[in-house]
Amino acid sequence: MSETLQAVKGMNDIFEDDAKYFRLIESKAREVVKSYGYEEIRTPLLEDIGLFVRSVGEGSDIVEKEMYTLEDRDGKELVLRPECTASVARALIERGRLSVEPEYKGYYIGPMFRRERPQRGRLRQFHQIGVEALGVAEPTMDVETMAMAYDLLTGLGLTGLPFMVNTLGLPDEKAAYTKVLEQYFSALESELCPDCKRRLHKNTLRILDCKVPHCAELTAKAPKLWDSLGTESKAHFEAVCAGLDKLKVPYNVAHRLVRGLDYYTRTVFEVVASSGLGSQNTVLAGGRYDGLIESLGGPSVPAFGFASGIERIMLMMQDAGISPPDESLDLVLVGADDKGRSGAFDLAMELRKQRVSVEIDLKGRSVKAQMRRADRLKARAVMVLGEREIEQGKAQLKWLASGHVEEIPLDAGVVKQKCAQN
Ligand code: ATP
Ligand code: MG
Repeated sequence: MSETLQAVKGMNDIFEDDAKYFRLIESKAREVVKSYGYEEIRTPLLEDIGLFVRSVGEGSDIVEKEMYTLEDRDGKELVLRPECTASVARALIERGRLSVEPEYKGYYIGPMFRRERPQRGRLRQFHQIGVEALGVAEPTMDVETMAMAYDLLTGLGLTGLPFMVNTLGLPDEKAAYTKVLEQYFSALESELCPDCKRRLHKNTLRILDCKVPHCAELTAKAPKLWDSLGTESKAHFEAVCAGLDKLKVPYNVAHRLVRGLDYYTRTVFEVVASSGLGSQNTVLAGGRYDGLIESLGGPSVPAFGFASGIERIMLMMQDAGISPPDESLDLVLVGADDKGRSGAFDLAMELRKQRVSVEIDLKGRSVKAQMRRADRLKARAVMVLGEREIEQGKAQLKWLASGHVEEIPLDAGVVKQKCAQN
């Protein structure tokens, strides 16, 4: 008995309408990041497991329970990348790129893998657009990068998206505060949810992010991170806020916002959809990770980056009624007889070389059936070719939306020009 083959749970096929959204989102992203001076980087889907343990962190959800691992034939433990910041850092360190020139702006677009419970907007293979800006410690870089994220989302028609912004301080401030917090929650351990109990000694800060109501109540009374920051960290954060004000990027300060990855320091931010995505409502998230490059064996280079889930952007666009533009076919050439079919074939091949999109019938359909097919394919125009048209070297070009008909010479250059004008 043959079983029906199915895609792996949580891993979607992207085609038809979804592929149109993906192409639109990706092309807009490339356009926006290019205007900010970013270059593309593509890293392998498989990485050594150590990379994520050392960067994302042992106590993080990703490393603890979400990674797809596999053992290579030589016994090496590999991971399907769950995120790409660590890979970008590894690539730059490996090539010695940052010792040559300590500034770098790169972006990536591609699939990431996390073994989570699949839901709307939460997949096991999902796609991210991400950017990494290395080498600038100044708060202006935080502002510039967040403004770029804002440009990207508003450029796709997504509005009313407040940025949630916070600071985690410098690594020693973050570490000192983590101790204070660990002490505070240790006394309340029995009241924490099972996830937070697990986080208590491994990823204490993440408790602040817990959505379980009682954990949130306990968190509200916890010591504030802001109070353990030094003047330099406070000044950095205030400069970031002032910069966002100046650029009119809407944001809220969210003093309890922490990110799930260990490597963040100082500024962290998220863009949260107000509705529709349920608990999968974060469309874009990132922050500063000044210590990461050095901790992976590279030079001490500050950095700022973010990543956004393409599927979540797509869902938000669909919820907002934004559709990608039609990528309609320019022309269908209809063959009325043998001479016409053969002439249509030759002209189609010529037009395709000039990148006019053309369809012809290869199955010997009747003229009527070819016309119906032109409608179904949503062609912008049709042209019927028979022996007479081929002999006279001209034919009637019909625009399907308006019904307008014009006689034009059977010349690829002229047809191309007509399609470009209409
Ligand atoms: P969440 O809190 O929703 O689990 P996260 O903190 O794990 O998100 P990041 O690691 O910061 O997410 O990834 C950045 C972005 O990638 C998210 O804001 C989201 O848009 C997207 N993303 C993350 N995990 C998934 C997933 N499993 N499916 C779809 N998109 C995802
Ligand atoms: Mg997650």
